[in-house]
Amino acid sequence: MITAEDIKLKRVAPAEGVSVEKLKRLIESGRVVIPHNARREGDIVPKAIGECMSTKVNVNVGTSKDYVNIDEEVAKARAAVKYGADTVMDLSTGGDLDEVRRRILKEVNVPVGTVPIYQAALSERAVVDMSSDDMFNAVRRHAEDGIDFVTIHAGVNLNTLERLRRSNRILNVVSRGGAFLVAWMIHNELENPFYKEYDYLLEIAKEYELTLSLGDGMRPGCIADASDRAKFMENIILGELVTLAREKGVQVIVEGPGHVPLDEIETSVKAIKHITDFAPLYLLGPLVTDIAPGYDHIVSAIGGAVACMYGADFLCMVSPSEHLALPSLDHIIDGTVVTKIAAHIADMVKAGQRERARQQDIEMAYARRNLDWKRQFELAIEPREAGRIRSNRPSESEACSICGDLCAIKLVKEFLKR
Ligand code: SF4
Repeated sequence: MITAEDIKLKRVAPAEGVSVEKLKRLIESGRVVIPHNARREGDIVPKAIGECMSTKVNVNVGTSKDYVNIDEEVAKARAAVKYGADTVMDLSTGGDLDEVRRRILKEVNVPVGTVPIYQAALSERAVVDMSSDDMFNAVRRHAEDGIDFVTIHAGVNLNTLERLRRSNRILNVVSRGGAFLVAWMIHNELENPFYKEYDYLLEIAKEYELTLSLGDGMRPGCIADASDRAKFMENIILGELVTLAREKGVQVIVEGPGHVPLDEIETSVKAIKHITDFAPLYLLGPLVTDIAPGYDHIVSAIGGAVACMYGADFLCMVSPSEHLALPSLDHIIDGTVVTKIAAHIADMVKAGQRERARQQDIEMAYARRNLDWKRQFELAIEPREAGRIRSNRPSESEACSICGDLCAIKLVKEFLKR
């Protein structure tokens, strides 16, 4: 009998250029996950995240307390998918959270993720007033709606908190979910319920086939805070939680930093990968400098490409609005395209993807040699901008208006006759 699982694998394997058998082995080992909630409705394009798979891109959308426009967030989610996002996360914290989540689930055909603790925290007077029941009920509520993966900051426990207290971090905690839990634990003098009752979380995840994305509550928020003991302590805890999840048959992803200078990325990524037994690694950035607000999508893409070269698998889009404001639709598109570029650059050196990715570059080189503009646009990661730039300043020759008749490619081709 052919199962839904077989159909999923048969769909994913050719898209990733691997055999079904290899894909199955990687999933069984936990090195690859395909987030898909058993209750998700519609024809959802399955996405494989992890070792030997093409680098995936997530785009965060969502309302804030300051700015609530559900239609706009849905439009952002749709635009993200149109421009190549593999997954979308709804990080809403303003307005009717159930409505935003349910509308996004309906409007996009890719896996959707959330951070349920936002809803648990916001349903109370103050973040520290939520109960552990509120936290688990929020996870169940999102799972019931069909959410495919959830960020859970289970690695923020009393142990990591102690490392944070002893650190000399400038920015302490910049993860929103991580900050909620740190405040809650200190105020209530209790262990993080997601850590303490992790078995219960796994039961919920198992019931809905929900993928856990273990959040990096201790992710560094500036270059000076990168690679410290609090971060690595959390990574060790996350590694233990990965093992427990796999034992219960729950798919699990690990989230990583944050802000990391270029020369610390290799150590950071390889250490996390080893400590977490090669679970798929999902990164926000890393941003490789703190001083380029307005251009953080580029800063992040540089770090993301390098991180994936050393083993990261899944990049979260950073928009030009990062650190400044809730992103506009245009900034979501810009951030998505730039992150897709980083993902492709990473695939060009990634085991299992290198040949396929480089073939696209080879085809572009031939199209350039032939001055075949139509083909160049077909091969471009984002053809619209390329077409707009070319048509804004056309050339009278078949070349482009940089050299016109003096086109080097054309000239040498004529004389070399090839
Ligand atoms: S005109 Fe110059 S820049 Fe344009 S395609 Fe030819 S060599 Fe390249």
